[in-house]
Amino acid sequence: MSAVDPVSGQPPAPWYRPVSLADALSARARWRKDIVAIAGCTDLMVGWNAGARRLPPVLDLSALAELRSIEAGPDSVTIGATASCASIARHPVIAGRLPMLVASARQTGSVAIQNRATLGGNIMNASPAADNPPVLLAYGARLTLASVRGIRTIDYASFHAGYKRTLAEGDELLVSVTVPFPAERVTAYYRKVGTRRAQAISKIAMAALIERDDGAGPAVVRNASFGFASVGPVPLPAPSLSRSLRGLPLSGIDRAQVERALAADLAPLDDIRSTAAYRRSVAVNLVLAAIDAAREAAPRG
Ligand SMILES: Cc1cc2nc3c(=O)[nH]c(=O)nc-3n(C[C@H](O)[C@H](O)[C@H](O)COP(=O)(O)OP(=O)(O)OC[C@H]3O[C@@H](n4cnc5c(N)ncnc54)[C@H](O)[C@@H]3O)c2cc1C
Repeated sequence: MSAVDPVSGQPPAPWYRPVSLADALSARARWRKDIVAIAGCTDLMVGWNAGARRLPPVLDLSALAELRSIEAGPDSVTIGATASCASIARHPVIAGRLPMLVASARQTGSVAIQNRATLGGNIMNASPAADNPPVLLAYGARLTLASVRGIRTIDYASFHAGYKRTLAEGDELLVSVTVPFPAERVTAYYRKVGTRRAQAISKIAMAALIERDDGAGPAVVRNASFGFASVGPVPLPAPSLSRSLRGLPLSGIDRAQVERALAADLAPLDDIRSTAAYRRSVAVNLVLAAIDAAREAAPRG
């Protein structure tokens, strides 16, 4: 009896499930992008289901224990690329130190999706609307990529090269994501705006990390970092906004100032989910809400 692919009626393509990273990288080196890495498969299955074609050769990462672990250190947590959103959301150190990551993992589809969806898949799928990337940008995450040529790390903020394109080479796999713990006196603010409160692709999402300086006078912004989804071809940091806020008193930042800075950072489009004008306006509201939250958290002098 010969097995056939149920979609194409042809013999099934190879399905390779290595048990060591070294073997996985050898397969990647040999086949490069002709072999499709799969983790939770929640993005890939949708694509495969949409077109009745033969499945490609598959490099199944699910047996690689070293890619699934979550290791907390003194200054950061390193999350394996195939750690699921569910395991991230219930990790005690992440819950204590990186609350925005818990929030974004819990916003990633339904509970059933979160049980399968991986952080690495969310990043490598490279959707500008994905929920975890804004948080990774605001926290200043770094990625570790590996190939048979070696290991390298890269700032997540420079990883997306264009719509659905990343700087990962054809023979590389994403191994882990390292997220530094924020400084003290920070306020973290994350909000996803969609058609519904759950199970909706965002119209816009924003993560902000605002660090205060509580010197003698009114609290000022020491540092601010941001990440946005659905306002450009890639998940976007907002470097102009960060620069423009540094050193300003939290109580003296007005809408026009935020609007001007964001105009340089964001490139929203009209699309099926929303309009560019709505996205620009909500982006400003979200930044102002984050600043309000930081001001509320400051000690009253
Ligand atoms: C019903 C439904 C609802 C969803 N809702 C949301 C949502 O609300 N928010 C959201 O952000 N996403 C959502 N998604 C999308 C998806 O669940 C997430 O993007 C998820 O994190 C993808 O992870 P995965 O492990 O399933 O990826 P996969 O489908 O396994 O892979 C995705 C891509 O990443 C590549 N890849 C995976 N791991 C690696 C690796 N280690 N190295 C190199 N390449 C790799 C794959 O080759 C593929 O190109 C939803 C999907 C469905 C089906």
